[in-house]
Amino acid sequence: MNDEVAVGQQLEREREVLARVPRGLLIGGQWRPATGGRTFPVHDPATEEVIAEVADGHEDDALAALDASVGAQAGWAETAPRRRGEVLRRAYELMTERVDDLALLMTMEMGKPLAESKAEVAYAADFFRWFGEEAVRISGDYKVSTSGANRVLVMRQPVGPSLLITPWNFPAAMVARKVGPAVAAGCTMVLKPPQLTPLSSLAMAGILEEAGLPPGALNVVTTSRASAVSGPLLADSRLRKVSFTGSTEVGSMLMAGAAAHVLRVSLELGGNAPFLVFADADLDAAVEGALTAKMRNTGEACTAANRFYVHASLAQEFSERLARAMAAMKLGRGTEPGVRVGPLVDEAQRAKVTSLVEDAVERGARVLCGARAPRSRGWFYEPTVLAAVPEGAQLAGEEIFGPVAPVFSFEDDEEAVRLANGTRYGLVAYAYTRDLGRALRVCEALEVGMVGLNRGLVSDPAAPFGGAKASGIGREGGSVGIDEYLEVKYVSIDKTW
Ligand code: NAD
Repeated sequence: MNDEVAVGQQLEREREVLARVPRGLLIGGQWRPATGGRTFPVHDPATEEVIAEVADGHEDDALAALDASVGAQAGWAETAPRRRGEVLRRAYELMTERVDDLALLMTMEMGKPLAESKAEVAYAADFFRWFGEEAVRISGDYKVSTSGANRVLVMRQPVGPSLLITPWNFPAAMVARKVGPAVAAGCTMVLKPPQLTPLSSLAMAGILEEAGLPPGALNVVTTSRASAVSGPLLADSRLRKVSFTGSTEVGSMLMAGAAAHVLRVSLELGGNAPFLVFADADLDAAVEGALTAKMRNTGEACTAANRFYVHASLAQEFSERLARAMAAMKLGRGTEPGVRVGPLVDEAQRAKVTSLVEDAVERGARVLCGARAPRSRGWFYEPTVLAAVPEGAQLAGEEIFGPVAPVFSFEDDEEAVRLANGTRYGLVAYAYTRDLGRALRVCEALEVGMVGLNRGLVSDPAAPFGGAKASGIGREGGSVGIDEYLEVKYVSIDKTW
């Protein structure tokens, strides 16, 4: 097949995949345009071209979605747990069957390489499978009171209508990690997808409908003005919960808004992950783990290693090996064969990464590779390793959200832990050491919700994902993930029988 034919076939396939995605708002089981018919554009970050126009919902649409959610709540809560679990199981199967199309869609709207998009679709689907299994295991308790005179009955019931707000960097997984437990628990939902990458959410909503989710259980309102959806819903006392994944700034604003009606909140917020390499580390494993922790999602992950702290005896070798590996990664549109680094999501993100690197270099950091925006079209930035980064550099204090690895060095364990904890964030940390005692001491001392010990990846549907400090409240996934959507009710029973 010549190149022209291959390109033509690829374009045709992209058009077909895009054509199958619903573009409207999903409210009460109906797909419909936004009130007033407004739309907003979605771009391919590798070409900067508009690939779709999506309904631009506003206040009235948000309230209509809440009406539908409230209307469906009682019926959905009474639906048999087995049935709720089967909806999720079917959604898992449909996503698995359609992994290629969903991955292509994700690469087109977000930019990550196809292999990573496939991995994310599989990861997202796995949350549906996991919570499909959890739906039938919601337990209660029955015990004798301390006096022996009464009985204590504890039940766990759905919290109620929930607002779910998701970010652009994991367009499918962040949806599944919220929708999965909400469906399993018997909560109805209003989902507000990210403006930059709404297509994966819309495709998944279609799949959940097809899997048998009843009308009104999941409502989806896409918008270019997020506060037009969150504002009226937080002000409405019928809403009972908000679950948000995104930046700490927006999360804390939503938390303040949720205070008016004392909503349950789950917040998965920003990170500033330290990656610690101790003197006794297996260096091959550390470099490989660093590549995963840094380059997954082109560095646009809340779990991305943001600061590499390496024992002074290994810092130079580690930096050079990491730079060789990162410089060898092929950059390009995620649909092209062999590409391992996609574009950043938009111009603003690339400008931020550029300015953080410039600041570090001005302060004396040494560029071992990258530090350039190579293409004229597409929001690309080259994989970058910076050595001898001074502690005051801006990128030590904030999320880089790009393919940039700054390497700092330390002298002893105490200093390593102090540097690692010297941030307002506390999502995840990575530590490489072969000494069990040191590993346990360090894991206990790190002020984070998760630690990757000799591993550069912590995400797992079976594990409780979440952060400490300004990285959030609550956990998603694992056996505690469903608790975020359940209210505990206790009945005190007088024993007069
Ligand atoms: P963001 O905070 O800008 O946006 C997240 C979502 O909130 C989007 O849907 C956006 O439209 C919406 N939003 C923005 N302003 C809002 C408002 N005033 N009211 C209601 N909704 C509003 O974050 P982002 O740029 O989309 O995502 C990147 C951030 O997400 C990073 O900080 C990253 O660390 C974080 N993140 C955290 C996790 C986690 O699990 N801890 C996972 C992925 C991403």
